[in-house]
Amino acid sequence: MTDILIVGAGPTGLTLATDLARRGVDHRLIERDPGPNPTSRAKAIQPRALEVLDDLGAVEPVLATGITDLPTRFYDADGTVADRPGIAVPVGDPAGTRYPSPRWIAQFHVEAALRERLTASGGRVEYGHEAVALRQDPDGVTVDVATADGVETVHARYVVAADGGRSPVRKLVGLPLIGTTPGQRWYLGDVRGPGLDRGRIHIWTSPAGMLGLTPLPGTDIWQFQSAIPGGVGTPPEPALELYQAMLDDRAGAGVVRLTSATWLSISQVNVRMLERFRDRRVLIAGDAAHVHPPAGGQGMNTGIQDAYNLGWKLAAVLRGAPEDLLETYSDERVPVARAVLDDSSRKMRGVTTAAMGASGGGLAAALRTMTDDVTTGLPIAYPDSTLTRPGPPSGLPAGSRAPDTGGLPGGVRVHDLLRGPHWTLLAFTDGPVPIGGGADLHVHRVTDRSGETARCYADEWDALVLIRPDGYLAARVPIAGAGHLTAYLDRYRVEHGDEAR
Ligand SMILES: Cc1cc2nc3c(=O)[nH]c(=O)nc-3n(C[C@H](O)[C@H](O)[C@H](O)COP(=O)(O)OP(=O)(O)OC[C@H]3O[C@@H](n4cnc5c(N)ncnc54)[C@H](O)[C@@H]3O)c2cc1C
Repeated sequence: MTDILIVGAGPTGLTLATDLARRGVDHRLIERDPGPNPTSRAKAIQPRALEVLDDLGAVEPVLATGITDLPTRFYDADGTVADRPGIAVPVGDPAGTRYPSPRWIAQFHVEAALRERLTASGGRVEYGHEAVALRQDPDGVTVDVATADGVETVHARYVVAADGGRSPVRKLVGLPLIGTTPGQRWYLGDVRGPGLDRGRIHIWTSPAGMLGLTPLPGTDIWQFQSAIPGGVGTPPEPALELYQAMLDDRAGAGVVRLTSATWLSISQVNVRMLERFRDRRVLIAGDAAHVHPPAGGQGMNTGIQDAYNLGWKLAAVLRGAPEDLLETYSDERVPVARAVLDDSSRKMRGVTTAAMGASGGGLAAALRTMTDDVTTGLPIAYPDSTLTRPGPPSGLPAGSRAPDTGGLPGGVRVHDLLRGPHWTLLAFTDGPVPIGGGADLHVHRVTDRSGETARCYADEWDALVLIRPDGYLAARVPIAGAGHLTAYLDRYRVEHGDEAR
């Protein structure tokens, strides 16, 4: 028996397990592979995902390894070489976040940071455990898990499918991924030894499509990416010799020499998602729920945020909060996934067209449109959620992400107050606060009317701002409306005090 069985220890499953472990929630995290994923896959982490890792205590190793500035060198088919700025751009307005820039980093390094944090919180990944069958009943889910020692039967109150784009669990539940497969394919790989400057991405343009080599920080690996032209039926199997021949063709025979590869793959672009991310006691997250083009680097980042949205809700429901809290996971994350599918598809079309041109200038311009304020993840908001209480028409809207503003005593910033599994109440008043703190609710009075935080959060004085455990504004009300907040907190089993102070 376990309360939560998480299937799949990619970034999504690891984020959820790390959150549940710090909350003391009984869970198991199983992974089919025999050990940690050794392939690079995602190579950039976005500002909002960095904020999530910060809250979970996993950001330091990512900051230590990842880099913000990675300029690009373009080699045109006519022999022109041009150095251009990086393609990952910082958020337009850096106020309100301590992580304004995406970081270049291999996915396995992000996973390692989460695993380290999970272990420190008493959790672990059970490798060599594959979910192979699943049955639901009104009280729980029974999952057959194949291991080297035979098949183990696990009974869980809830199962989270974080088992990637091909999601066996999603198929066992019978939920269809709806969408299209637009026919774009890429050769991918982790290769070594090209003898190029590791301080930049190298991209060769040609009418046959672009070929890129990206150095992965903290390693001697380069991620190889090459578009497979549209007319090719069944492309040759990926192989080091094939990748070398492509480079010889673009850069000149023997100019850039690959010595080894630890991952060789073909990736097929899909634009597909589930209509709902829940089937009774099975919740679907990350690539298992939505797959989309790589433009803008959103897959890992969206999966991390799915898990972060779900963790506190599962913990609350296990403690007696109404089941419909789990419905808000799907309600809130489906529109986010839909927006990511639309945005990445639009950007992918632009890059694909430019990539078939022979000029690095056109491609550089298209690549620089791939990351923007949208892809940072910072503007994601849940204004229409049933968890959001509509607030005054002016000022910071309820449902927004809580900005990380400063101006609090001792140099503290808002996200320092949010760090941890609790809810947070910011009281902008000189008078007593009608709701007291408790095990689940941290209450902070802000008295500096002209400070950055008051100016950002409190359009009017004597206001209360309630922030969810995942950092979104649940409500912004005048102090006179505190009764509504206590009813809200009671509904979701948030322990608090009711003494004014
Ligand atoms: C070349 C490339 C570049 C990318 N670049 C970016 C980028 O820059 N930014 C970004 O955000 N995203 C990027 N992505 C996408 C990113 O890699 C995925 O979105 C991310 O891995 C999804 O995480 P996940 O945890 O949901 O799924 P996965 O990482 O796929 O993890 C699922 C896990 O479940 C396990 N599993 C499957 N079935 C079972 C089972 N039955 N039982 C137990 N375990 C099971 C699998 O072995 C796997 O470890 C890129 C992908 C590729 C291929």
